[in-house]
Amino acid sequence: RFKALVVDKADEGTVMDIKEIGMDDLSEGEVTIKVAYSSVNYKDGMVGVTGSIAETFPIVPGIDLAGTVISSEDERFQEGDEVIATSYYIGTRHSGGFSEVARIPAEWVVPLPEGLTLKESMELGTAGFTAALCVKRLEENGLEPGAGKVLVDGASGGVGSLAINMLADKGYEVVASTGRTEEAEYLKSLGAAKVIHRDEVTDTDGKSTRKRQWQAAIDPVGGKTLQYILSSLDYGGSVATCGLAGGIEVETTVLPFISRAINWLGIDSVKYPMEPRIKVWESLAGELKPSALETHISHEVSLEELPDTLRDILKGRVRGRIIVKF
Ligand code: NAP
Repeated sequence: RFKALVVDKADEGTVMDIKEIGMDDLSEGEVTIKVAYSSVNYKDGMVGVTGSIAETFPIVPGIDLAGTVISSEDERFQEGDEVIATSYYIGTRHSGGFSEVARIPAEWVVPLPEGLTLKESMELGTAGFTAALCVKRLEENGLEPGAGKVLVDGASGGVGSLAINMLADKGYEVVASTGRTEEAEYLKSLGAAKVIHRDEVTDTDGKSTRKRQWQAAIDPVGGKTLQYILSSLDYGGSVATCGLAGGIEVETTVLPFISRAINWLGIDSVKYPMEPRIKVWESLAGELKPSALETHISHEVSLEELPDTLRDILKGRVRGRIIVKF
């Protein structure tokens, strides 16, 4: 038997318990993994604390995990292989990474790329994978260093911190927007050229267009922040929309699209296909590997500390990335 965080439905919200469970409590899959590290994402907070996006109860949350294969019924994986498993239904419908042992369908498992340790892969996790997707999509749409400023909002969070560091490492001029200006030194240590308060990029007057300020933006926040970005992108600029930490509703008009030729790019990590997924992980181990990953961005917690951490991430109190060590 082994330890896991188990979430069950309660009259109001959920109950979170650290329990001893067995293989019969895990979802079905071909690859059994001794989990070395997991990580904490906003979605884990939603499953653990509110239960809002959990598709079944009880569930072991944790949308990310990395570890060593104990046994495999699929020829692509052998005992002893180091692997990463993130996304798909892991931690929402399928038992996830907040467990000493996980059992995952082979088609959701990625071989650990050369150039990353298991620990680093979780310091990146879904947040890093998503930040990489954003950077790649923006560059496919014409972004290049020297073209202008790039705004990253939700800057102190997981996606935000990693996106800042990846962009700065590539030579972009990054403006970080945060509700926690006390984190300015941290954000500068990741490479932000300038730190502004989130109020400066929150739409309060509903203008369709305003002063052009950014060549691109990475937006994990959504809502009125995204409204502001759409109205203030430079000609031909792009925003990569990847999150909803500040809200899901967005009011805009066609004007910035037809007068400034801007691009609104959607980013999804969950159903991103396996073949390009492996390539993104390889670039995370190479040219996109953030230079401040271990030194500044990540912190470690134990399984026992997870319930509090999950509450914190929903309150916007988590800085950078949190990994879970087993
Ligand atoms: P996180 O670490 O909690 O970061 C979110 C950040 O957003 C917070 O640190 C905070 O940054 C800011 N924020 C929080 N509440 C806010 C509010 N009410 N108004 C404005 N800003 C607010 O979470 P994460 O794991 O990085 O995920 C960020 C978002 O991306 C989540 O919505 C998540 O679901 C989404 N996501 C989507 C994908 C995908 O596939 N599309 C993948 C990963 C994550 P400051 O304190 O610095 O302002």
